[in-house]
Amino acid sequence: MRLDKYLCEAGYGTRSEVKKLLRSCIVTVNGERVTKSETKIKDGDVVCVAGKEACFSRVEYWMLHKPAGYISATEDKKLDTVLELLPENARSDLFPVGRLDRDTEGLLLLTNDGKLAHYLLSPKRHVDKTYYARIQGRVKSEHVQAFLEGLDIGDEKKTLPAELRILKSGPESEIEVTIREGRFHQVKRMFEVIGCEVTYLKRLSMGSLKLDETLEIGACRPLTEEELRKLK
Ligand code: URA
Repeated sequence: MRLDKYLCEAGYGTRSEVKKLLRSCIVTVNGERVTKSETKIKDGDVVCVAGKEACFSRVEYWMLHKPAGYISATEDKKLDTVLELLPENARSDLFPVGRLDRDTEGLLLLTNDGKLAHYLLSPKRHVDKTYYARIQGRVKSEHVQAFLEGLDIGDEKKTLPAELRILKSGPESEIEVTIREGRFHQVKRMFEVIGCEVTYLKRLSMGSLKLDETLEIGACRPLTEEELRKLK
């Protein structure tokens, strides 16, 4: 890894801030003063800033308020990925935990902790995911029961019981729904089955983790210690 990237990931600021830091001649690698950003750092090298070892935490957890227009992937030839919304000093090996459709907004967790991601996504664990949606079509109280019983959305098995709360019923309805799986386009397909169309979808929570509504759309922040503790 290049020295400037190493220092960014260790929390010493953006690439340009790190460049300044290097120019100030206080960075050493294995005891040698180094000023070049492109210096390669290998496993076992000891990087110090003003005599203090620059270590970085191996795992990171970011909450992103995903905007529409970004795909939940780590790379794509044509489309913008959610990784582009992370700050420059975020680790480069982060990935989204699960997927939101390109046009879906809301809570997305990004981490490099494969174990936690596996734990949250495991089909055996059925972690709750709650969404807010605007719907073209009238969502009625009979649909609450249909969602609870599980719907045939064309997969091998019916969906697991889902809790549907109607916030507004009319030609355009508003709802909240809690599902326990993460099937492809699951919420949209469930509404299709009852003859409605999801026109706006936003994830509000995943397990104990709730979207911080003070986060602007497109902004992210590290999880707090408490959020992380509850999630694990
Ligand atoms: N269900 C969907 O249909 N889309 C999402 O992005 C998430 C759940």
